[in-house]
Amino acid sequence: MRSTRPVMSERREAQRPRIGVIGAGVAGLSAARRLADAGLEVTVFEKSRGLGGRMACRRRDGLQFDHGAQFVDADAPALQDLLAAARSQGLAADWTEAAREAQRYVVGVPGMNAMCRPLADGLDIRFDTEIRTLRRAGSGWAIGSAGGDVHVDRVILTIPAPQLPRLEMELDPETRDALYGVRFAPALALMVAFEERPDWPAIQRTPPAPFALILRDSSKPGRPGDAECWVAHADEAWSRRNVELDRPEIGAALLSELEAAMAPLPPSRAVMGHRWRYSQATQPLGRAFIASGCGTLLFGGDWALGDRVEHAAESGRAMAAAILAETE
Ligand SMILES: Cc1cc2nc3c(=O)[nH]c(=O)nc-3n(C[C@H](O)[C@H](O)[C@H](O)COP(=O)(O)OP(=O)(O)OC[C@H]3O[C@@H](n4cnc5c(N)ncnc54)[C@H](O)[C@@H]3O)c2cc1C
Repeated sequence: MRSTRPVMSERREAQRPRIGVIGAGVAGLSAARRLADAGLEVTVFEKSRGLGGRMACRRRDGLQFDHGAQFVDADAPALQDLLAAARSQGLAADWTEAAREAQRYVVGVPGMNAMCRPLADGLDIRFDTEIRTLRRAGSGWAIGSAGGDVHVDRVILTIPAPQLPRLEMELDPETRDALYGVRFAPALALMVAFEERPDWPAIQRTPPAPFALILRDSSKPGRPGDAECWVAHADEAWSRRNVELDRPEIGAALLSELEAAMAPLPPSRAVMGHRWRYSQATQPLGRAFIASGCGTLLFGGDWALGDRVEHAAESGRAMAAAILAETE
């Protein structure tokens, strides 16, 4: 635990609530950081091998691509603490090649997920741990994975709302209806490394159809080597039509769309595809989180307030504040 943690009396130490946080994206880590700093016993469960969730970075054969979130808004109030910490540790920097007059972009260094590291510092995070069940256990909860149950007093869930039905748990009808009302769009992504640099701007925010975004990942600060790594996200309509393609098919199909839209393309040395079945919320919850189980089960994430990293941070911190308000 970090040295900034307040000293607690022995009695409070013995009583301190145990909190389980599901998901090590920005929302889960923002909540966990705040609760751990306040002296609560926090365990984070993450089904993948790393931090960041949809702030994701794919590495292969010396090439690297951010294939989820591309940048954050440098001026978003909810991100200022995180950005200051990440910048001071060399884990975030301005993406000057893409900056426009009214908007400054910040990216993680060396990849987008690196920006989350200051939040995770010193936390107990169980990677490769997919939570499958959530059952009442006394006044708390048993969080179940293939490795067995962990008992906690409160649970924060930051899984994208449409994925919650995969979890075996009982929900009251009001919470279930609110969660199932949240809608997401899919997004399919192309990652391509060219042999030469194409004559395109570092970022195209209104590219030709069927793309929503085309950008030169290699123009971000602190990227490795001199590769020409580009990322292109398909727009919502194309992504919905092609959502069942597998990764190689997505890569091939989007590369031929890129050829049609932007010809001529330089020769490519690596092509990959990725499917975000639940990319960003098109219909958010409309409040920072929703609580159930007498306030012991809290659901949040970017989708609670919007569709961006700052919404995830805000939701995570609001859930932590709600727990602290009740337990202090
Ligand atoms: C293609 C794309 C482009 C985007 N571009 C931008 C952008 O440029 N700027 C911006 O601000 N935002 C962007 N976003 C949105 C941004 O990525 C999200 O708002 C933010 O990362 C969401 O954080 P979160 O913590 O709420 O959710 P997530 O990052 O999704 O975190 C949830 C975590 O829960 C884990 N998990 C899920 N189920 C389980 C389980 N059963 N057990 C354990 N762990 C589980 C997941 O592995 C994941 O790590 C983009 C998103 C996508 C997909």
